[in-house]
Amino acid sequence: MTTSPLFYQAGPAMPEVSHAHGVFLWDAQGKNYLDGCSGAISCNLGHGHEAIRDAMLAQLDRVAFTYRTQFENAPAVALAHELVAMTDGELEKVFFVSSGSEAVESALKLARQYFVARGEPQRRHFVSLRPSYHGSTLGALGVTGYQPLEAPFTDITPGSIKVPGPDFYRAGQTDRGAHIRHVLNETRAQIEAAGGDSVIAIVVEPVGGASTGARLVDKTYLEGLRQLCDEFGCLLIFDEVLCGIGRTGHWFAYQQWGVAPDLLTTAKGLGAGYYPVGALLCREALVETVMANGGFQHGHTYAGNPLACATGLAAIEAIRREGLLYNVTARGQQLKHGLESLQARYSWLGDVRGLGLLWGVELVMDPVEKTPFPAEANLFAKVTALAKEEGLLIYPRRTLDGLAGDHFLISPPFTISESETELLLERLASALERLDREVVAPLLD
Ligand code: PMP
Repeated sequence: MTTSPLFYQAGPAMPEVSHAHGVFLWDAQGKNYLDGCSGAISCNLGHGHEAIRDAMLAQLDRVAFTYRTQFENAPAVALAHELVAMTDGELEKVFFVSSGSEAVESALKLARQYFVARGEPQRRHFVSLRPSYHGSTLGALGVTGYQPLEAPFTDITPGSIKVPGPDFYRAGQTDRGAHIRHVLNETRAQIEAAGGDSVIAIVVEPVGGASTGARLVDKTYLEGLRQLCDEFGCLLIFDEVLCGIGRTGHWFAYQQWGVAPDLLTTAKGLGAGYYPVGALLCREALVETVMANGGFQHGHTYAGNPLACATGLAAIEAIRREGLLYNVTARGQQLKHGLESLQARYSWLGDVRGLGLLWGVELVMDPVEKTPFPAEANLFAKVTALAKEEGLLIYPRRTLDGLAGDHFLISPPFTISESETELLLERLASALERLDREVVAPLLD
């Protein structure tokens, strides 16, 4: 057979990976790539981490798989305790899954079952932001606000009420307060229009991922959402599939703003790229209500298996033992300065935003009007290809219905050193210099 039977997405031919170590991967031709986005913001501890490998091998030697309804397993119980402790006990219950989409599906279904159990079956709607990304399965896609992904499926997903989220870049710093009030008022208006008591939950990413290019929320906004939830009797779900497990320098991103959710989803970094592990964390009262009414009608075969949980435990222990949350903050500052000095060089680098080791860079044609480049220019794909040629992996997204320009994420592993961060910035600078010369200058002419 000449062509591969695999199919994923249309795109340029890819190099074949040979091996990886630390923050570097090598292709079969011997070229190295600095992993500037931790794969899909998932290989948070780099490649070839010995302690994780050892923990996995030890668990494989004991037992790899048991089914959650047949045996309790020590790594699952220990990892659940760890996760609860990481929320400072604010969320007391854990349900394991194997991916971010599964975690979001679980959150949506648990929230719905909670209200059915409480005799409020008229609550049928979720509220979520546009833009946002919550996963690719139908339920998670229904709450996702990303038109190109939604389009073929809008008629067959449960859908959600889409409201605008904060966009501090376009609102400008001085109008921040007014902007927050505006998006919260819009959210309230849409909840009221749907009938306040028809809403199950508001779903939000505390730090946006690929769909928004690391757009941040703030304390006032989250407090406003919490108030709306309390007023309308619905639940608050934080999707920390991407921004959780230390990515922002906090175990969970929401903790820096001090507003806790009722349910929280996490995945990606939990298995650190070594094994698929995801989790739904939630308040005990929710679980008690559902369990007292027939139990949670949901579950996945591989959920909480011993190998998955031993991997997750080893990843969290490594973050603690190696003091990596400090490195996330220190290297994050280094990246911020480096990205801001690149921004000063090119007017079309409209915005640099983020925190910890989660940085988004948005490209715009006009820095004053903040106008995105035309979609046909495919800047997101071009900057990614040039970075790859320069030996740097970045995570891109295309411009979005006038809601955001092309952007890319820089989110290297927590283990990145100071000199590797410099190298990342150097390779990015070379890619941007070429983008400016070969692509942007002719477009702006
Ligand atoms: N939620 C968020 C915020 C995500 O970033 C992602 C993945 N990019 C998902 C959910 C879905 O996770 P997965 O790809 O593991 O299903």
